[in-house]
Amino acid sequence: MRLYSLHKTAAVELEPAGGPVYIGERLLAGKARISAKGAAVAMDGALRTGNARTISLSAYGAGVWLSGKALPRRLYRGTIVFSSERGLLKIINEVDLEIYLAGVVSGEAQDLSQIEAYKAQAVAARTYTVTRMANHIKEGYNMCDSTHCQLYGGLGAISARAAEAADATRGQLLFYKGRPAATYYHSACGGRTETMAYVWPFEGKPYLVSVRDGPAGAPYCAGAPGFFWKTKIFFTGLTRIARDAGWIAPGEEARGLRVSAWGASGRAAALELYTRTRRVALSATDFYHGVGRRAGWNAVRSSYFKITPGKDYVMLEGKGSGHGVGMCQWGADGMARKGYKYREILRHYYPGTEIVND
Ligand SMILES: [Zn+2]
Ligand SMILES: [Zn+2]
Repeated sequence: MRLYSLHKTAAVELEPAGGPVYIGERLLAGKARISAKGAAVAMDGALRTGNARTISLSAYGAGVWLSGKALPRRLYRGTIVFSSERGLLKIINEVDLEIYLAGVVSGEAQDLSQIEAYKAQAVAARTYTVTRMANHIKEGYNMCDSTHCQLYGGLGAISARAAEAADATRGQLLFYKGRPAATYYHSACGGRTETMAYVWPFEGKPYLVSVRDGPAGAPYCAGAPGFFWKTKIFFTGLTRIARDAGWIAPGEEARGLRVSAWGASGRAAALELYTRTRRVALSATDFYHGVGRRAGWNAVRSSYFKITPGKDYVMLEGKGSGHGVGMCQWGADGMARKGYKYREILRHYYPGTEIVND
């Protein structure tokens, strides 16, 4: 997998964390620095290599710390290959799937408290991973370490609970009719998850259907921070976002917004944006992403909202956060609190699927 995939850097510092670190076949005695120079990489410090196309490092035992001027200090293990891509470092780490998974779960489930929710997250993330192995195959690696694939911050970022959950579910995948399921998940559904087809235009899945998340009036995800939210959007702000997103022309002004179609859960599925002279159709997903990218993800936290018109604004009152498809992470935590096991949690959010051992 590619490390520091969102960072543009020409140099990285290495520091053995304990246990041997090899550069090729030579033992690295202490700190060192690898930098990209044109199409080559070079190493200074404890060892000198000439200019090489790639430098291959192996760190077992405790691993190796990587850091740099604009790079967060992170601990990695296994084989790491450094090469240059237009004068910038490309760092590829061959990481054990279960270690990677514990790292991903640490990040994705960090707000949760229940071990059964962590286990459900581990199975969902493992299944997601095996279905995404080809994400970057054209660039010469499987996955990147950013949210584009899944966030991975190395061994130093692995929590004890995530490691325990990965270990307890080792090799387990969620299958639907003999194939790995598309295990989408989100933060909090707001009381009902959504059928995939209302959120994304691509082909739906029979197990990604709207489910009621717990008893009426007492959803499993009720403990999620910001479960209820309210945002006032003035037409001036809406105009700025709509122009920037290309929903309206530079000379047009947004004068209103309404929900024109609902999904199975009661979320908005489609919207209409009004100018003085016309109305513009938008999918709720485009609206959610368009506002999120331009005004931050806390303004409109989900597409589960109703709209009340005001004089020069619209008021959005909503529930939950995230796209609403598949497992609700805060709901998983709420179910675990009520005594449900991870198998029941997964069955609830992905009806018709089964756990298989790889
Ligand atoms: Zn990626
Ligand atoms: Zn929920």
